[in-house]
Amino acid sequence: MTDDRNAEAAHEGDDRGTRGTAATKPRYGMAAIVAFMTRTAWHVRKSVLILCLLEGVAAAGTGILDLFVAPTILGTIERHDPLSTTVAAVVAFTAGLMLCGALTGWVEMNTLFGRIEVRMSLLRRISGKQASTSYPNTLDTRFNEAGAKAKDCCASNQSAGEGIWHTLATLLTNVLGFAAYLTVLSGLDLWMVVLVLATTVASYALSHRLNAWGYRHRDEERRSKKRLRYLFDTGTGRDYAKDIRLFGLGRWIDELWDGAMRVYRGFLTRREGIYMWANIADVALTAARNGIAYAYLIAMALDHGLTAARFLLYFTAVTGFATWMEGILDQCSQLHRQSIDLSMLREFLEWPEPFRFDDGEPLAKASDDHYEIRLDGVSFRYQGADRDVLHDVNLTIWPGEKIAIVGLNGAGKTTLVKLVAGFLEPTEGGVLLNGVDIRRYNRRDYYELFEAVFQDFSVLDATVAQNVAQRVDGIDPVRVRRCLNQAGLSDDVAALPHGIDTQIGRQIYEDGVELSGGQTQRLMLARALYKDAPILLLDEPTAALDPIAEDAIYRRYRDMAAGRTSLFISHRLASTRFCDRILYMEHGRIVEDGTHESLLAQGGRYARLFEVQRHYYETDADVAGRKGDDDDAR
Ligand code: ADP
Repeated sequence: MTDDRNAEAAHEGDDRGTRGTAATKPRYGMAAIVAFMTRTAWHVRKSVLILCLLEGVAAAGTGILDLFVAPTILGTIERHDPLSTTVAAVVAFTAGLMLCGALTGWVEMNTLFGRIEVRMSLLRRISGKQASTSYPNTLDTRFNEAGAKAKDCCASNQSAGEGIWHTLATLLTNVLGFAAYLTVLSGLDLWMVVLVLATTVASYALSHRLNAWGYRHRDEERRSKKRLRYLFDTGTGRDYAKDIRLFGLGRWIDELWDGAMRVYRGFLTRREGIYMWANIADVALTAARNGIAYAYLIAMALDHGLTAARFLLYFTAVTGFATWMEGILDQCSQLHRQSIDLSMLREFLEWPEPFRFDDGEPLAKASDDHYEIRLDGVSFRYQGADRDVLHDVNLTIWPGEKIAIVGLNGAGKTTLVKLVAGFLEPTEGGVLLNGVDIRRYNRRDYYELFEAVFQDFSVLDATVAQNVAQRVDGIDPVRVRRCLNQAGLSDDVAALPHGIDTQIGRQIYEDGVELSGGQTQRLMLARALYKDAPILLLDEPTAALDPIAEDAIYRRYRDMAAGRTSLFISHRLASTRFCDRILYMEHGRIVEDGTHESLLAQGGRYARLFEVQRHYYETDADVAGRKGDDDDAR
């Protein structure tokens, strides 16, 4: 069920992203992007800019020397110059060509690492933005889509984030070559120049129009590839291995793959058909241009005594001139495409932050660690949703209070906790810390007040101790062990081959151990305790535990929460008896608020739900109680 949802989400996200791309115009044009990349290279590695200039000049030098070499040598022979003049010309051209070739080779060898470094610096900025952006952005499909595209821009040596340097160098080569060849052609009839210009522009315009088809349809291609990649990953991934063997999932995936492949093949066939016409048009226009140039130059040779050397020079210039022009137009459109991609990257880096970080007020630590959090008329609606999830919630969490939040699925419990923790911004109302709206503070300082266990785990492939302390150096092993003990994981960790230094996970370490869901949840609990923050948030911290382990955690709960304020979401009402106050939520509202006893006496929804669960918990608690007593005795 979850897997199906993921699959749908992947496609939906893709479609949304496509529409988003088609609808949004890039904010930055070519000049702004070239300036942005130049600034980036200037800060990261200046040599990239110098080498880019040299690459352009060296390649243009080769092209210009190529134009003159044969006509010049032929000229010395035609004019019956002394042999030494011919030899000198050959030597000079050879030396010049060798110099340009050597320079080109040297630049190619030395520019790669600098360009990669600049690209990596962009990637670092992208991942930095993703890691530190305001939490609501991480829920925004447009933000995530823009992030994925920004990463695509820096994915390889050919991507816009690195390819732009080659484009700029090639553009420079073509501009220099164009200027040199134009100077030569100015010695010819003006009509010849116009003819060359006109046929080149026509051929370019046509091929550009047809080639642009591929670019316009790149999202269609991306979508096809994404579908194929998703199916491939699903079919080969470990997550689905059991279901593939147990159900007909393998056959189903094959059918989906065939369907996706058919769509992709159809796209490629359409594209190749269109590109074929671009090539045919280009060949026809080139043949026309060269034919007319030949006829004109032959007429000049016959009627006006044009020498063989000049004939060769002009003919090379006519055909070469078109190549330079095409080069300029090609590189401009390449630069245009890369600018669109890089504009997306830049827009992503500048994506607005709804929260204040370094520009917010620093949050001074309260000397007594007493923090009062108040939700003042808070309503909340997720982006894109058509109704509020929380409605006008007023709640004060007093310092040191232990609050349980209960209610059926979808009541808004997790959302409420996320608002308290400052992950979401209320649509209406505000969250106040000791009477001050938290929007004023640096949000990172605010997060320092919380330790938490959420439903989704974030365990890295690293040691147990590192996962608890969230660092590599400066880990306090005594504190790690104490927290593992509080979280009820000491015995399990002691049984591991290297205790707290055992590697978890097998993605990086072949001999890493894999923890069960319950063990991972307790590891997350130990991590929360290690942070030793004044407010503890627990979002169903025992959902993956068996009833005995769960009860053991509840028994320790008072200890864990001692000296802290705590907010505790639970489905199991038996656990709430350890709390000072219980909030019962329904449809985004707190409908009952009181102690376990007062709510039972009230005989409302909490009491009814408790009654439903009572039998189950009595049975579990009896068993667990006995086990818990055994644990305590040990
Ligand atoms: P609970 O924790 O009580 O089960 P939640 O706070 O997780 O409830 O969810 C409350 C409502 O908000 C549900 O209807 C859920 O579908 C919706 N919701 C939760 N997360 C999101 C999200 N990221 N985007 C849109 N709706 C969401």
